[in-house]
Amino acid sequence: MKINSLTDSELQDLLATNEFDNELRRQALALRRNFYGNKIFIRGLIEFTNYCHNNCYYCGLRCENKNLVRYRLNTKEILACADKGYALGFRTFVLQGGEDDYFSDEVLVPLIRQLHQQHPDAAITLSIGERSKESYKALFKAGAERYLLRHETANAEHYAQLHPVRQSFAIRQHCLQDLKEIGYVVGSGFMVGSPGQTAATLIEDLRFLQKLNPDMIGIGPFIHHADTPFADMPNGDLQLTLRLIAILRIMFPTALIPATTALATLSPEGRNLGLAYGANVLMPNLTPVMLRKSYSLYDNKASTGLESAEYLEKLKNEMTEQGWKIVVDRGNPVSGVEIISNYQL
Ligand code: SAM
Ligand code: SF4
Repeated sequence: MKINSLTDSELQDLLATNEFDNELRRQALALRRNFYGNKIFIRGLIEFTNYCHNNCYYCGLRCENKNLVRYRLNTKEILACADKGYALGFRTFVLQGGEDDYFSDEVLVPLIRQLHQQHPDAAITLSIGERSKESYKALFKAGAERYLLRHETANAEHYAQLHPVRQSFAIRQHCLQDLKEIGYVVGSGFMVGSPGQTAATLIEDLRFLQKLNPDMIGIGPFIHHADTPFADMPNGDLQLTLRLIAILRIMFPTALIPATTALATLSPEGRNLGLAYGANVLMPNLTPVMLRKSYSLYDNKASTGLESAEYLEKLKNEMTEQGWKIVVDRGNPVSGVEIISNYQL
């Protein structure tokens, strides 16, 4: 099956059935093994603020959710999380948060510089939403080299179903272009099963990603949150998410694709299944334990047990049992040269 040459309607057929899942999984795993062997890269996730001026209809951190206890970590606390992670073997830190106006460039630039100086061999990834190109440049110059910004949906009407009018589809797309132009290693992606999503919008997502050609692709099931307008919407489908992970691995053989926390929340087997369908990244949580419940994107978000950096040894053992190896590594995407020399199916 040559995924990259399928027409939209052939892709649509593929998405609509589980008939080909074993074949997709076989191809995805073969590619994943070609480029990354049995390695799993880990990213230490620091959820440093749950304040957000945005109001995405799907997310528990939206500014209109008055039931959420808000917190933000200061520079010292963020650096302490990273130190703890470094000692555990993390060589990538993901600083994630809502769009919190407190974290201006004046606050973030010295923070990133200090983090970079303290751990020069670690990669700094940001996941803090939409900012001006000037701001993205300043953060890049300070030492952040990767940026995660999901496009959420490549269909403008669907985007408008998921966000209030003042959150613009065009700006989101523009931000992704800015990040690429500046030279960030860029990650994008979408939720599977977000309200209003159809097979047609999913195909648009795949085509959009083919154009953007990101190095990292994060997808996970939509999971409802009781304090959002989507409280009664059904969660995303596990098998469709896995099918899409395999399709993305085949389309983007060298991409860094996480088995996301949302996948692990949806099913106790979610993490292992994500890896079995072609994912190669895990993002254990380094946020101080007492705050984790407040980073409540969706109901029952997994944040303890194997999602937690404290259980890294246990996670390593479980991964070894499954035939994987968690490595102490920055986990860069493999380069073009390696792609050509390794490529075989
Ligand atoms: N505020 C930044 C942003 O939106 O890019 C970073 C943090 S945001 C919480 C990270 C991602 O969480 C979003 O891109 C979205 O896809 C995902 N997310 C939010 N609410 C979700 C939900 N209810 N179910 C699954 N994923 C969700
Ligand atoms: Fe804020 Fe990101 Fe949640 Fe939207 S998805 S409300 S931008 S934290």
